[in-house]
Amino acid sequence: MDSGDINAADGLRLLRTAYLAPSGTRHTGRRTATATEAQAPIRLEVYDYMADAVREAVETTKELRAGQEATAPPPAEAEDVYRWMVEETAHLDEERQKARDTLIYRQGLEHAILMGDHKVVRPHPCRRCHTYGLHWDRDNEVAACLNRRCADSHGEPTTWTLKEIARHYINRRTRAAVRAT
Ligand SMILES: [Zn+2]
Repeated sequence: MDSGDINAADGLRLLRTAYLAPSGTRHTGRRTATATEAQAPIRLEVYDYMADAVREAVETTKELRAGQEATAPPPAEAEDVYRWMVEETAHLDEERQKARDTLIYRQGLEHAILMGDHKVVRPHPCRRCHTYGLHWDRDNEVAACLNRRCADSHGEPTTWTLKEIARHYINRRTRAAVRAT
């Protein structure tokens, strides 16, 4: 695991406990509102967001299993869906396991960004110029490379979607695992 590793289940657990908890019970350890808190998503959005994330994980598991019935029903608690997904796809070929890991990793990035943690894109190298310095562009919902030499002839930065970042990360991790054996 390199420094870009994040845990999607932890992200969902945090969303559930910190953002879906009844109002007034959210403890941030800070008295004053910070920029992050000011942008904190409202509960209904979080609820829909989590439902969508779980639904995508469940649907993708079914697709990866190519019509084969799952051996166990999806778990009741949202953050357990990834463990279930891994268990239900552990016997599949490497390509499908990589597709699963990419989805889990991408959702982990999405969870962090929803909670205002835009730094999660920084440990990932730009695939084009191979430097570190990705910056989350909130308006366009892409990670932009801050290396000016990497920009195009109009000065527009190279950008990556979270899906691309996740795919690059899982490919790097797979190659590192192959080298280690
Ligand atoms: Zn770049």
